[in-house]
Amino acid sequence: MTHRVPLIIGNWKMHKTVAEAVHYVTVIIPHLIPLTGCEIGVAPAFTALAAVSAAAAGTPLHVFAQDVAAEGPTGAFTGEVAAEMLRDVGCQGVIIGHSERRRYYGETDGVVAAKVRRALEARLLPAVCVGETLSEREANAALDVVERQLRGIADALTDAAKQPIVLAYEPVWAIGTGRAATPELAQAMHRHIRAVWEARFGASAAATLRILYGGSVTADNIAGFIAQPDVDGALVGGASLSPDGFAQLIRRSCALTSGDGEGVLRSVE
Ligand code: PEP
Repeated sequence: MTHRVPLIIGNWKMHKTVAEAVHYVTVIIPHLIPLTGCEIGVAPAFTALAAVSAAAAGTPLHVFAQDVAAEGPTGAFTGEVAAEMLRDVGCQGVIIGHSERRRYYGETDGVVAAKVRRALEARLLPAVCVGETLSEREANAALDVVERQLRGIADALTDAAKQPIVLAYEPVWAIGTGRAATPELAQAMHRHIRAVWEARFGASAAATLRILYGGSVTADNIAGFIAQPDVDGALVGGASLSPDGFAQLIRRSCALTSGDGEGVLRSVE
């Protein structure tokens, strides 16, 4: 069986000045150096990306942006940041289609797909979020909603066997609420996501696909998620904001994994 090295990404959202972000990196790196068996990323705001990338260069810490323009590589798109610009400041990946982008900024599945295409063209690893709202879950529509979102992402790929991509299942009702999904609920959805991927792209692409869980993950509940066979890491918001707290969460994840297997971030280094 393929061993998928877990990936843990901290999404800082709209937090931290440049000085705070660089201080965070200097605190967390000594915690990460002895750890094997997982890959780690943080996603600072645009303003801190260059400084965090410089501070993290040559260390196990990878840098993700929180969003990317659907257009580019250049053009008259005031306020937007192209995938190539993110690569230029040292990013290895980018979060795409976070529910806050879908909800507050009207991102459709089509926009998400365009952003995935742009990220891949610039050799950035897309970490693409899917997930249902509470009312969709209560209406028994969670599987349909996630399938629809996956179809949009899959349509953006031209060669899924060669294009690295990470998916994150983030039930909207679990994000920032302190009400995480149970590991069993996450596992059921992750298994479904992998089955959808297999039907579309074949067994080998599905077996290597990283599917992260996100939604109120903490150092106290991470182990239950990582222990699930189809949960390959986590996208962590609030619990990633303190370097010591995030380091503890990472330690508990890495301790559960064997340390061998190939990471997904290697393909974009
Ligand atoms: C997120 O923003 O992707 C997230 C999962 O947030 P939190 O961990 O705070 O729920």
